[in-house]
Amino acid sequence: MSEHDQHMAARRAMVEQQLRGRGIKDPRVLSAMERVPRHRFLPHPDDPGAYNDYPLPIGDGQTISQPYMVALMTEALRLNGDERVLEIGTGSGYQAAILAELSSEVYSVERFSTLAERASCVLAELGYHGATVLIGDGSLGYPEKAPYDRVIVTAACPKIADPWVEQLADGGILVAPLGDRWGQTLTRVTKRGDKLEHQNLGGCVFVPLVGEHGWDSD
Ligand code: SAH
Repeated sequence: MSEHDQHMAARRAMVEQQLRGRGIKDPRVLSAMERVPRHRFLPHPDDPGAYNDYPLPIGDGQTISQPYMVALMTEALRLNGDERVLEIGTGSGYQAAILAELSSEVYSVERFSTLAERASCVLAELGYHGATVLIGDGSLGYPEKAPYDRVIVTAACPKIADPWVEQLADGGILVAPLGDRWGQTLTRVTKRGDKLEHQNLGGCVFVPLVGEHGWDSD
């Protein structure tokens, strides 16, 4: 089997066992996860664990999220294809690629320039021109392109930062792991006028959000 076919087979197995098998149903999310070459977003693309059921280190003490968590968060965003999406915590860029498959514009903010530059290169090489990576403190959002139809935070946060709510369109959805450093609740927040509706989507563990509206250090 060629390397290309091996990766495709690994992605199919990942989708069947880790995603569909655990209740991910949105057909658009499942097919995006089957298409995006996750191995390309790893520091070593030949890592045999690229499609396995766990997060992996990507440098600077950060991780690429477990495939199931990427699928769960993406499904929770209920993307139709025409949204403008803000991601906080680019990391490897893998989640940004999945978002780019399913929406029209993605702005993703990362605090480490090394990670941001690598993610940006891989996204460009793979042709995800709708995804833009920015270096900065994502706890402040990215006001330049607001309002966003969706906001996804892929680092643990102590609370929903005010700038994210301000930059979210009315009727928009934000998904974030809310809690303390050691454990969080994946939370979906829907903005309705000046009210926020909260939904609990289950437990999770992410690396911390470090910045003005997050923690002071890793
Ligand atoms: N979505 C990523 C995984 C993210 S891991 C992927 O698909 O690979 C969380 C990321 O959030 C890390 O890269 C970390 O550096 C970043 N991060 C933490 N605090 C941040 C902040 N205030 N602004 C931007 N990025 C932040």
